Amino acid sequence: MTETPVVELDDVTFGYTASPVVSDISLRIDAGEYLAIVGPNGSGKSTLMKLLLGLLRPDAGTARLFGEPSHTFDEGAKIGYVAQHASASKEMPITVREVVKMGRFPHVGFGRLSEEDNRIVDEAIETVGMTAFANRRVTQLSGGQRQRAFIARALAGEADLLVLDEPTVGVDAESVEAFYDLLDSLNESGITILLIEHDLHAVTDHADRVVCLNREVYFDGPTDEFVESNALARAFGTPMSLAGGAQ
Ligand code: ADP
Repeated sequence: MTETPVVELDDVTFGYTASPVVSDISLRIDAGEYLAIVGPNGSGKSTLMKLLLGLLRPDAGTARLFGEPSHTFDEGAKIGYVAQHASASKEMPITVREVVKMGRFPHVGFGRLSEEDNRIVDEAIETVGMTAFANRRVTQLSGGQRQRAFIARALAGEADLLVLDEPTVGVDAESVEAFYDLLDSLNESGITILLIEHDLHAVTDHADRVVCLNREVYFDGPTDEFVESNALARAFGTPMSLAGGAQ
């Protein structure tokens, strides 16, 4: 028996207006994969992510998460989401530990966190290397530290799938590599990683599989084949060097 895919899109088409933004997308992501979606601005990456997370419903085709239709999937804790520019809301100057505790809420409802919940929270903070900053307000963190705190929140929720949308935009260069090393170790521990990324170096250095998107899927395969195939240049008609990124 084959394992239920984490994500399964079958012939998905969607448009905000009559003309489709993504067309006939079929994509299966299995547990444990590390997949990057690349493509220039406006190629439909964020739309595809919203479709697979059930935030948008396909006009045609089906989207499934852990075997269930994405739009009715309600085990939110299974999915950790790290947005671009994870912003530090000045109105809510809460600490790293408080952010990470939120990851436990789907497990405890409105009840109090047990000792075991607090242990899981501390472990998540330690895994992302933020123990020394646990009591610091997220408004006082660097961009990279803040993204780690959001990853820890997902780990505290015991997420099986981590979805990251250009997570290192605005993160200082020295912290970027360490951030991707953290993702590598999380993937090695069994977490499925779906990364939307414009930094092709990060993709080719870390992801195992690449999906190249421009309304349709232009390439879907192992990262080394992606590099050899020059898929981005073929898809978009312009040479896109690794140094230049996909923007
Ligand atoms: P990417 O993430 O690759 O930059 P998007 O999925 O954000 O691409 O956008 C794909 C296309 O859909 C673009 O032409 C964009 O202008 C359009 N689009 C995105 N969001 C909306 C929206 N909420 N309403 C109308 N059009 C949208």
